[in-house]
Amino acid sequence: MEPAISKTTIGFHHGKHLQTYVDNLNRLVAGTPMEKMSLKHLVADSDGALFNNAGQVLNHNLYFLQFTPHSKGMPDGSLALAIEKAWGSFENFKEEFVKAGTALFGSGWVWLTKDPSGELAIRTYANAGNPVKEALTPLLCFDVWEHAYYIDYQNRRAEHLKGLWNIIDWEVIGNRFDG
Ligand code: MN
Repeated sequence: MEPAISKTTIGFHHGKHLQTYVDNLNRLVAGTPMEKMSLKHLVADSDGALFNNAGQVLNHNLYFLQFTPHSKGMPDGSLALAIEKAWGSFENFKEEFVKAGTALFGSGWVWLTKDPSGELAIRTYANAGNPVKEALTPLLCFDVWEHAYYIDYQNRRAEHLKGLWNIIDWEVIGNRFDG
């Protein structure tokens, strides 16, 4: 998935940062009724340290499972039509998405979301924020925490975000949209 995400970054991001959120979350829910709750429910219903760690586990699950080294480069089917309807063109959508992620101050995430009527939107949330908090379906997410890109791109966040388009698995995103 280089140059968008290097092996070193995956090692730290997936192997250390995500692992810490998973360990923290497991410790926080151990021996409580929350142990049996789905991650999505936990994120929707929690706050404080529990929300921060559950949110980051859910966010990173969605993040890491949306990549492929064999990206087709663009969506097709119903998702492609919905993006065209909302932003005029896929190119314009990509530009607006990167602009939103670049403008987000500090740490957080930029999302493509679907509301219950099927309408798409670009949203940004600080820190561990996730669209399920607002009853929106998360489709695509770019992590703009510095740990996601600093080893490879240093301060050049926009350049990293643009590089991610080369490794998006649009079949995964399309299934989230249709599902
Ligand atoms: Mn991250």
